[in-house]
Amino acid sequence: MFDPPILSRHDARICVVGGGGSGAALAYDLALRGFSVLLLEKGEFTSGTTGRHHGQLHSGARYAVGDREIARECMEETLVLRRIVPQAIEYNGGIFAAIRDDEADYAPAFVSACLEAGIPAREIPAAEARAREPALNPALKRSVWVPDGTIDAYRLAASFLSAAAALGAEMRAFTELVGVETSGGRIQGGTIRDPCGREERVSFDCLVSAAGAWAGEVGALAGLDIPITPAPGTMVAVRGRISDMVLSRLAPPGDGDILVPQRGLSIIGSTQTRADSPEGILPTKAEIEFLFKRADELVPGFSAAPFHAAWAAARPLAGRAASDAEGRAISRDFAVLDHGTEGVSGMFTLIGGKATVLRAMARKAADAVCAHLGIREPCRTADFPLPSWRSLDAFQARMAGRGTAGSGGRTGGTA
Ligand SMILES: Cc1cc2nc3c(=O)[nH]c(=O)nc-3n(C[C@H](O)[C@H](O)[C@H](O)COP(=O)(O)OP(=O)(O)OC[C@H]3O[C@@H](n4cnc5c(N)ncnc54)[C@H](O)[C@@H]3O)c2cc1C
Repeated sequence: MFDPPILSRHDARICVVGGGGSGAALAYDLALRGFSVLLLEKGEFTSGTTGRHHGQLHSGARYAVGDREIARECMEETLVLRRIVPQAIEYNGGIFAAIRDDEADYAPAFVSACLEAGIPAREIPAAEARAREPALNPALKRSVWVPDGTIDAYRLAASFLSAAAALGAEMRAFTELVGVETSGGRIQGGTIRDPCGREERVSFDCLVSAAGAWAGEVGALAGLDIPITPAPGTMVAVRGRISDMVLSRLAPPGDGDILVPQRGLSIIGSTQTRADSPEGILPTKAEIEFLFKRADELVPGFSAAPFHAAWAAARPLAGRAASDAEGRAISRDFAVLDHGTEGVSGMFTLIGGKATVLRAMARKAADAVCAHLGIREPCRTADFPLPSWRSLDAFQARMAGRGTAGSGGRTGGTA
């Protein structure tokens, strides 16, 4: 039974905007620290980028050479998530595969960068890699094992949402924050709207935007200009499990270089462009053809497998990019912006990051809230195994029975 002790209760009410993985982890973290929590999600829970990502539990190896800090954080969080939410993880490991000569030359720098970031990468003979994953291109020149894995995007977030609900967080799906109210430069509350257009005023003491690629829109409600770039990416899934491990190209991060097995599917991704808005992002025919070509280089025959789906989502990159190339150069690390310095005291924005580091993102945001309120309350989200993601269905059924806005069905996830 999930019943962690609340060490002290605080009067402050914190509003979290965004019912993706980051908002879910934050709602749980704040509730565990004894705050009253209101979580708002304008669609279904996980209907933003969280329900559409690639599903890779990043060991951090992909970022070790160029983005050391997020690489280290990914490895640390991988270990925590494996302990507290094993129901959402397939710990299958990963292989970085060198198909070309320049990729083979990259191996030594890659392995030493991983080790420096605390990632236990090790080169394995190409023959061993192909014995483990026979679908790999026979032209394989070198290969490196890393502790990557597969996450179920929905179950991971839903486990955190279930934990927040169990601790009494008020969670409202299909409820959009449409206005922010301040007085004397301090947050007082906001206006929320349901899908029928009914508006309601709600009070809270702090507001944390965990709206991912929508952070710009939420910030604008308070007159803020948030440095965020929605960066869409496309993925293609075929039926059948072509590999059991996560397969990546042994090269600096690029397009179409990761194959993730997700239950009975194999998913190649992704691409990266930039957009002004995260709404209405769709895959293009050119992207799908490109991804099939890239997948065939890694595992010949991928494109001949039965097509399952193609979809796209927007990354919430922390920074401004005027071009696709500038977007690639932005770190995958995350930050918490305290808008007190811009005249909106009590409002924070969580930007950047990855699904893999959702708990660490939440910890940083909750620490900022505590510091603002002058409350000393440590993060304890690494201490307790989370309840099953299935508890969320029960919670939503209860809310629907009471006629509240908490109802909402399960979103697709990546499988
Ligand atoms: C193509 C692609 C592949 C990726 N692959 C991986 C991967 O394999 N592994 C990994 O770790 N990470 C991956 N990522 C990154 C990861 O998906 C994101 O970092 C993460 O999902 C962001 O979660 P979030 O909760 O911050 O944002 P979201 O899931 O987007 O949640 C924000 C929510 O805020 C809601 N919202 C917005 N405005 C309002 C409002 N006014 N009121 C109420 N609600 C509002 C939205 O509806 C949305 O649901 C990938 C990203 C992309 C784009």
